[in-house]
Amino acid sequence: MSISKNNNQEIWKTALGEIETKVPKSSYETWFKFPKTQGKQISEDCFLIESESVFISEYLEQRMYSVISDVLSKLLDKELELKFKVLGAPLHSEENTKNSLQDNNRLSLSLNSNYTFENFVLGASNELAYAASIAVSENIGKTYNPLLIYSDVGLGKTHLLQAIGNKLLEDGCKFYYLTCEEFTNEYIKAIRTNKTELFRNKYRNADALLLDDIQFLIGKEQTQEGFFHTFNSLHLSDKQIVITSDRPISSLKLLEDRITSRLSGGLVVDIQLPDYETRLDILKKKVLLKGIKIKQEILESVSNKLYHNIREMEGSLNKILALSELTGKELDIESVEELLGTTDTNSYFADPEQIILKVAKYFQIEISDLKGKSREQNLVIARQIGMFILREDSQMNLTTIGLLFGGRDHTTVLHGIRKIQADAATNQNLRRDLLAIRSSVINN
Ligand code: ADP
Ligand code: MG
Repeated sequence: MSISKNNNQEIWKTALGEIETKVPKSSYETWFKFPKTQGKQISEDCFLIESESVFISEYLEQRMYSVISDVLSKLLDKELELKFKVLGAPLHSEENTKNSLQDNNRLSLSLNSNYTFENFVLGASNELAYAASIAVSENIGKTYNPLLIYSDVGLGKTHLLQAIGNKLLEDGCKFYYLTCEEFTNEYIKAIRTNKTELFRNKYRNADALLLDDIQFLIGKEQTQEGFFHTFNSLHLSDKQIVITSDRPISSLKLLEDRITSRLSGGLVVDIQLPDYETRLDILKKKVLLKGIKIKQEILESVSNKLYHNIREMEGSLNKILALSELTGKELDIESVEELLGTTDTNSYFADPEQIILKVAKYFQIEISDLKGKSREQNLVIARQIGMFILREDSQMNLTTIGLLFGGRDHTTVLHGIRKIQADAATNQNLRRDLLAIRSSVINN
């Protein structure tokens, strides 16, 4: 069978017309519109789609394969394999493609479409990180660069990073989202195949690099070197870099201080453990996303339990959903309590004395001083921090908290809590203290 050039162009244009009716207008404009893409049948059973950039090619292959394939098979009346490449680039044979750097380094567009800003619940614990992520995604390279998001595991770093990615995707920006592990594998491979130049160019051409879990670079000196160069060339040309880490940069112990100092040169935001209200809101959001109805009192009970992080709380929710599916009945609070363990042994920060103990330990002071009358500055702050954590995490009322702290009245408690709340918004060190104390309570 021979297919003329014109004929090919006709086919592809007709296909585009069909595709235009099947995908959102903005997607069509960004990814398909002629002459961004051109298509031709290159053999009996293979159709080649060429595009302006690697980025578009990879996007089409990963996200639009089935749409294109459906349209073409209807049009040509047969199933064809699709191949994608950049206009003018040589077409790799199957074997070559497998081994080529580009293929292996395919844009990790494996973004979870649920990880959006809309689906991210705002609370005092994460509002800075959220605001910074929004700012960055709306003005890449120009606001905070690099942006580093830091928290314990399971508190929403990946969610936020991918929310940035999903926004950039929508806006048609060129970016790479990948984990440091993927980055490392790719870099090692580039070295082994003498393709570090290609590696560098690839990232240099993007508008943004979103790199998840940088702690993975610890101990990998060669990759750190590669990371450093990539980082520099992007940073020098005002390309946006966003990085997540599950430990503070200072303890990352990355090769040479130069990396650490570059990272600290941008904005570092952290995510803390969410308070009760935020946990409840997150549960409600998750339930809504899953399209299921669960009684408010059950959600309240779930969000009132002891969790190390949100991921764990979602685990509880999934258990409940599984149970409800199994039994086919609407759940009552008793069966949920039984499933998740009683509130007695499991309630969130159940033991206030534990919190007080941990606060004292953290600041290396005596419990008696913490509860005592001294107005010494460091004691006052430690006391206020203790009150704040008790209030946020146990929903204990102000009077009871006052009693625990040596019989102070509720206005004193309220004043202390407000003070910490206000300071935490701007004081990184304070936020770090809070995080450390709360972690120590949980990981008791
Ligand atoms: P990390 O990367 O910090 O380990 P993830 O981003 O994977 O954590 O978050 C774990 C889970 O908790 C995800 O399902 C995420 O959607 C959810 N989650 C965390 N924080 C929030 C939030 N503020 N709103 C909604 N979901 C959240
Ligand atoms: Mg993560």
